[in-house]
Amino acid sequence: MSDLSTRVVHGDDDHSPGSPITAPIVASAVFTSAGDPTESYVYGRSGNPTWEALETTLGSMEEAHALVFSSGLAAAMNLLLALSEEFRRLLMPNDAYFHLRLLARRLRRMFELVEADYEDEACVDAELRRAPTILWVETPTNPLLRVYSLKRFAALAQAAGAPMVVDNTTATAALQRPLDNGAVAAHYSLTKSTSGHADVVLGAVVTRSDELAARLQTWRSLTGAIAGPFEAWLALRGLRTLPLRIARQSETALAAAEFLAAHPRVRFVNYPGIGRSAELARTQMSGGFGPLLSFELDGSADDADRVIRSSLLIRPSTSFGGYESSWERRARWASETSASESLIRLSIGIEDFDDLRDDLERALKAAGP
Ligand SMILES: *Cc1c(COP(=O)(O)O)cnc(C)c1O
Repeated sequence: MSDLSTRVVHGDDDHSPGSPITAPIVASAVFTSAGDPTESYVYGRSGNPTWEALETTLGSMEEAHALVFSSGLAAAMNLLLALSEEFRRLLMPNDAYFHLRLLARRLRRMFELVEADYEDEACVDAELRRAPTILWVETPTNPLLRVYSLKRFAALAQAAGAPMVVDNTTATAALQRPLDNGAVAAHYSLTKSTSGHADVVLGAVVTRSDELAARLQTWRSLTGAIAGPFEAWLALRGLRTLPLRIARQSETALAAAEFLAAHPRVRFVNYPGIGRSAELARTQMSGGFGPLLSFELDGSADDADRVIRSSLLIRPSTSFGGYESSWERRARWASETSASESLIRLSIGIEDFDDLRDDLERALKAAGP
């Protein structure tokens, strides 16, 4: 099997004469068809050649089926719908991506939701044994960058007969392979690092189970949570350079994390590559620890807001994984309950580290003496 950096370039190759190098954007909602409608493209809610080029490439990265959805949350919703055919109980980390927890809470008539502290593995084990349950894992988590053991959680899930699904958005398939570590499905917001250019909102589920893939396809067609062909094309264009981008971002993010950890105005830094999570992260991530880190400013919420407004390069904005560095005070979102008042989440782009360090130094001065 070739390297992932080769597969993202060649995963959807067609060497026949006259075939275009980039997948064409097929903007048609309707396709010519008569007779058996399952034989080719018929209608744009059930299939489109541009999504399929993206799916083929995403799938080739993990030797699996990939299904693309209109957003990361749409992908999660469809995955939960597919799993709800068998399971009525859902276990999530209490620091999972906040909109995902808000969604799960609203699905209370569909699932009994348990939000647990995943650092307490005995508690996760006990919850899994209580009743048939979906084990939803996110690692590293957004925005606390906690690292949970895929191997140990997979063993607990297997012993309890629970399907493990992993939100792999922060690491991406370039750094971490949940399907090789016992997950039945990996979930992605492609909006973040995977597409990497902050120009598209999309999601995906990747699975090696033929049955789950077929169910997801049915649910997607019924919910209509499909990708637009132009968005799929942009995501595929971004995906081609994912391994390059994430290697550079990981290297710079590690240097930024070390710089911040030594800074007098910073209380602590969360980054999978340093501190207490580093040993575990090294066993299940390879090629780097990703672009995302968070740190707590030694100061108030106002101080943190001033720091964020004082950068000249790092863009004050939400989201992460783009080519451009960005940051936000995470608790400005009322429903973001995992972040303290002065926690800043920083996404490192592909800029030069020295320029970013100077920008960080300048901005941190704005916190006051
Ligand atoms: C952003 C994000 C999502 C949701 O994805 P959207 O594309 O915004 O719908 C899910 N999980 C994680 C970890 C995220 O960061």
